[in-house]
Amino acid sequence: MMIEVHRLTKQYGDFRALDTVDLSIRKGEFVTLLGPSGSGKSTLLNLISGMTSPTSGRVVINGVDATDMPTNKRGLGMVFQNYALMPHMTVFENIAFPLQVRGMKKAEIETRVAEVLKLIQLENVANRRPRALSGGQQQRISLARCIVYNPSIILMDEPLGALDKKLREDMQLEIKRLHAELGVTMLYVTHDQDEALTMSDRIVLMRNGRIEQQGSPETLYFKPDTVFSADFIGSSN
Ligand code: ADP
Ligand code: MG
Repeated sequence: MMIEVHRLTKQYGDFRALDTVDLSIRKGEFVTLLGPSGSGKSTLLNLISGMTSPTSGRVVINGVDATDMPTNKRGLGMVFQNYALMPHMTVFENIAFPLQVRGMKKAEIETRVAEVLKLIQLENVANRRPRALSGGQQQRISLARCIVYNPSIILMDEPLGALDKKLREDMQLEIKRLHAELGVTMLYVTHDQDEALTMSDRIVLMRNGRIEQQGSPETLYFKPDTVFSADFIGSSN
């Protein structure tokens, strides 16, 4: 298993944001956490990435207990809704940054960044600054910055939430393509049912800090009162 979560709980005061959750994700699988706003999706993702620490329970990544490991030692790539790009750096520099931090040599960095720019069709904006670009392009840059150092697991929290419908559909296909091409394990968060159905090998449906049901898009049974979509719920964080 690439990711194993054992009886994971996160408590804020008396409130359980995540309640004794068990989840296993196989190598190469595309798993989506789906659920309404406040159901605990980001909490679960942040506990797996190490951005927050659990009240109780364990997180095991690639066979190693990572519960007390800092985020940067967990071998994960992360993509967020708000891109988190550095505005004073060019597109090239933004994508090169994670490689510099890892101490890669300049010539190797240039080769690798060029490769990724090509993979994600950003060659023609390499020397621009993110602010000058569209939301869709900025999200491609944050995707490129994530895949540039070949993480074996990628976590995405509502990465397309800020984009309009057409662009969102294009990016869904792009992320699917990258997942297949790179063979990475993907844990993806959305509150958009159609998006989850389009993209996932397995959907994990969350409600009130628990897993309500899970299965492939073909086998998952949505009860009438659990049916929801982005149009009903609006955007969430
Ligand atoms: P989702 O990502 O599914 O919308 P979250 O995991 O962000 O939901 O939040 C789950 C619940 O935990 C929400 O009710 C939220 O208000 C609460 N919560 C999240 N972070 C905190 C925090 N730092 N302090 C208190 N409550 C929090
Ligand atoms: Mg969230």
